[in-house]
Amino acid sequence: MREVFRRVQEIVTGIDDNTDIYGAVVPPTFENTIYRYPDFDTVVETTKGHVARYGYSKNANPTTDALEKKLAALENGEAARCFSSGTAAIYTVLLSVLKQGSHVITVNNVYGRVVDFLRNWFPQFGVETTYVAGTSLADFEAAIRPNTALIYLESPTSWHFELQDIRAVVKLAASRGIKVAIDNTWATPVFQNPLDYGVDAVIHSASKYLGGHSDLVGGAVIGSRAYIAGLPQLGAVLSPYEASKMLKGLRTLALRMERHESNAMAVAAMLENEPKVRAVRYPGLRSFDQHELAAVQLHGCSGLLSFTLDTDPAGVRRYIDALRHISIGGSWGGFESVTYAAAMSGDPEEDIVKRGFAVGQIRLSVGLEPLDTLLEDIRGALQRV
Ligand SMILES: *Cc1c(COP(=O)(O)O)cnc(C)c1O
Repeated sequence: MREVFRRVQEIVTGIDDNTDIYGAVVPPTFENTIYRYPDFDTVVETTKGHVARYGYSKNANPTTDALEKKLAALENGEAARCFSSGTAAIYTVLLSVLKQGSHVITVNNVYGRVVDFLRNWFPQFGVETTYVAGTSLADFEAAIRPNTALIYLESPTSWHFELQDIRAVVKLAASRGIKVAIDNTWATPVFQNPLDYGVDAVIHSASKYLGGHSDLVGGAVIGSRAYIAGLPQLGAVLSPYEASKMLKGLRTLALRMERHESNAMAVAAMLENEPKVRAVRYPGLRSFDQHELAAVQLHGCSGLLSFTLDTDPAGVRRYIDALRHISIGGSWGGFESVTYAAAMSGDPEEDIVKRGFAVGQIRLSVGLEPLDTLLEDIRGALQRV
């Protein structure tokens, strides 16, 4: 077993998750809203912080605490906070750093909700954003202003898979007093640990690989104890039931990522040799334009990739509708393979291209199915292009 998988499995099974209760081998789910205090003085002592007790589940919950302990350890962080979605986690991080008149730098192909917040909600507080390609350090250097407060990374991005050199960006940011946050959803804590490179906050959409079973929406932020303690409390907390499902997902995280990676590598390699496929975007491929950076920054690759069919939108539709096993869907990171085409926006070709996509571009979340099932399904559909 590769060291990264062993490390993750040891953390996941090695950290106590309240399994001492009646000897239960999986942690119970605490769905209660409040906790009873034995007497008057205990309330006073708890309020003063002299006694650590659970009081109200929005503030702390044993099931969520068990999950947060594991997520912090998985990212080599001191502390973690879970949220009701990845989007809530992102918004909380933005609010934790940005002040009136702050400037943010992020990458062109960052997750769409980040753009939504920075374009539609933050300008009323005088917050401005600069978008950069991010594939060269000079992009960030040129964008820095005296009021730059945050560099928000997503490496790799989730359609084109451009990488940013995290170590180099952190070094630059530190020299100017700028905080760095990163969306690490694609790589998962198995394949990338950005806190090791000095970032201030790591964000995950747990709705993808951390949950892993397409049955929960959640998010997490990991960082230093002081940073996490200082996050604004927006009330967008993860429910204990979802926390319990995520704890279950984590038990197989290493196992799943190993299979996602090997399946995706094989699918990407197959696609590269198909005459009807013009380009494959997957950081694990030797032909990937940032493969060298990927090799030193990532410990491995997850299952999300994209490729471009050498055809028009009608050919893309024939390909998608010919798939027998792979589902059509917008999200990713689950056990089942799911695909989506850029042309599904329904926009005119020139708008799709203007947004930086190819008309025939297809995203594929490679799941955990037997590899032959996937290869046969894709090859069969390609014959219909
Ligand atoms: C899905 C996603 C998010 C948002 O997560 P939700 O849990 O859907 O709110 C953030 N970043 C990336 C890269 C994503 O794919």
